[in-house]
Parts: sequence; structure tokens; C-alpha cells
Amino acid sequence: MGIIDEVRPLKPAMVERRRDFHQHPELAFEEVRTAGIVAETLNGLGLEVQTGVGKTGVVGILEGAQDGPTLLIRADMDALPIHEETDADYTSKTAGKMHACGHDGHTTIALTAARLLNDRRAAIKGRVKFVFQPAEEIGEGAEAMIADGALDNPRPDFSIGLHLWNDLPVGTVGVTAGPSMSAAALFTITVTGSGGHGAQPHKTVDPIVAAAQIVSALQAIVSRNTDPLEAAVVTVGAINGGEAFNVIPPTVTLKGTIRTYRPEVEAMVYRRVHEIAEGVGQAMGCTVDTSIASMTKAVNNHPEVSERVREVAERVVGAQNVRTDVRTMGSEDVSLFMDDIPGCYFFVGSANAEHGLDAPHHHPAFDIDEESLVIGAAMLAEVAASYLID
Ligand SMILES: [Zn+2]
Ligand SMILES: [Zn+2]
Repeated sequence: MGIIDEVRPLKPAMVERRRDFHQHPELAFEEVRTAGIVAETLNGLGLEVQTGVGKTGVVGILEGAQDGPTLLIRADMDALPIHEETDADYTSKTAGKMHACGHDGHTTIALTAARLLNDRRAAIKGRVKFVFQPAEEIGEGAEAMIADGALDNPRPDFSIGLHLWNDLPVGTVGVTAGPSMSAAALFTITVTGSGGHGAQPHKTVDPIVAAAQIVSALQAIVSRNTDPLEAAVVTVGAINGGEAFNVIPPTVTLKGTIRTYRPEVEAMVYRRVHEIAEGVGQAMGCTVDTSIASMTKAVNNHPEVSERVREVAERVVGAQNVRTDVRTMGSEDVSLFMDDIPGCYFFVGSANAEHGLDAPHHHPAFDIDEESLVIGAAMLAEVAASYLID
């Protein structure tokens, strides 16, 4: 019997497991209950388990009967500070916290893959390193786990992971070679003038007018500086300055994000944000301080690993349901695990519009079609088997 057939009967248990995680969401680096269940489950299977890796992360090693390569399977565990507004009968039991990205499903899927592969331990040549990561939503969990040695002893030869994806209908899988999720950076621009009376602007240097010009000028980076065939986003997400209708404030702060696929484009955008903010600010008589902090690298899927995942996806969901062009300017710190270990991070469709399960990720009404759990577990286990079992 193939792995795909073995997952089907596990669906009720997966649904129960996922709904329990869903009802008990934990924010970044607070995944104590979730990590406890993960560690207990992996211990129960007889894996070698390490807890407290990157604060609340868990690593489990499934050692095959014979030697061979090491495959890393990564799942993230954290929830979001969102108040759930679904009418499911398994809604979050904690006000203001919600699994609105599907990480409850990812954790469930990877635990199920561990069980499926453990049943085949005698046939496995090599090992699987399961990495259950905290704090993906704040972009810090992968870095913390790697700093604690998650990629050492043994160092993986290949890596895979998946995201349940409500941009795709359930029953489809997206496998895209090359860049598929963007690098992300956070920028802060502080515009300083000199405040004063709103009725006497000539006696001030108005940072609000300067900030408005900077926001407009920043739009030219994507429209005029970026090759139209390349991907880039510059978004100003916050403008803060001033309190009263008749007072010109001394400073205005802009915060925003930069998303790119390629390092050359990223470097150009960083340079232009500095030049525009500082140049426009100076022209308006203000002083400007700009800082840009890189948060994650782009997810750059390795061609050979992606090809293997695509072949498996064709067997699991049928060739007509495999998409090879799914890209997003969203970001994922799985990129740090895959940066110098050939890997593929793929999308498992989880939307079902007919059943109202198609709200976007990070939305208070987000929910998934749980059939995606079955597909996700089959995908991880089948890809692992293709690397480690003859
Ligand atoms: Zn998310
Ligand atoms: Zn996510």
C-alpha cells in the first residue's frame, strides 16, 4: 500500500489534532503547549527529540535502518495576534490570538509525516530531521533555531516544507522553481523639521509636507528604477507625526517594507530609498534619517528538489492540479534553512469557496478545507520516501 492510501484513514485524527492546535493558539516564542505536544508525539514514535532549540523550537530525528542522506522537513507552529471571527465550532479559546495563517495545519501535517515515515523506518536509508519552528510570523524563529544548531549534527543535504495556501483551491499544489517568496526588509524614515503654529508655516520647516513628498517620490523606485521584468514592492505602511489640527510638528516618522526576489534589485531599492528620502527631505529643508533592516531572504527553490516535489505532486493530486507558477511577494523565514541547503518550499491549496473557506491568510475569518491536511502529509512523506527509500 502506498503512502497516499495510508494517509486517508488518518484524516479524522489529523482534523482532531489540528482543531486542538487551532483552539489553543500561541504567539511567537510562546509556543510552549504546542511544542510540548510535538515533543511528546515525536518521543512516542521513538524519534531522538531536542526541545528548547531557538527558545520554543523542537527538533526530531528519525534515523533510518541504514546510512544515507539527511532530509530536513520544516513546519512552523506560531499563531497571530488576531481576534478570530469564524463561526467554526473549534474557534480560538484565547481572545486576540488566532491561527490565521494555517500553522496549526503545518504542525499537524509534519507530525503525521513523521508517523508515516516512522512506519517505514526499516526501509529508510538516511534520516529525516524534523524542525518545528517557532516565531515565523515575526521572522525570528528560523534564525533562533539555526543559532542553536538546528542545521548542525547532522547537517541536512536537502530541505522541504510547505504552506497551506488559500490562494489555491484544495486539491491543487503549487511548486515553483527559483524565487517564489520574496526577501523582506523594514525601513524607518525620520523626517525632522522645526515645528510651530499652523497659521505661521513660514516660521517653521514643515516635516509633514516633506514626508508627503517622500511618500510620493518613493513610488518612482518601482515604476522608474526597477526593470519592469523584475519584482519589487515599496510600501509605506505607517505615517506618524502631529497631534493637533493647528500645530506643525517637529518630526514625522514613516515606516514601510521592501520586498524583492533578487539581491541586485534589493541593493538598488535600498540605495534609492536612501537617496530619495534624504534628497527630497533636504530639498524641503528637513534633515532625514533612514534605516533599513533586512528581515528575511527570498525563498529560492532549488531546481532539482523542485522537480522532484513536482513529480510527487503529480502522483498525489494529478498533473492537471499541479501549478508551477505560484509566486508571492509575501515572505517566509524558511528561506534561512534553504539558503545554502538545496530545498523546495511549496504551496498546498487549502481554499474551498463553496464552503466559505477562502478568506485570505491573516484575516479574522481565515479557515482551511481540512482535506489539505491529507494532501500535505502525503506530499511530505512521499517526497521524503523518494529521497530515502529505494
Ligand atoms: Zn502568516
Ligand atoms: Zn504562514
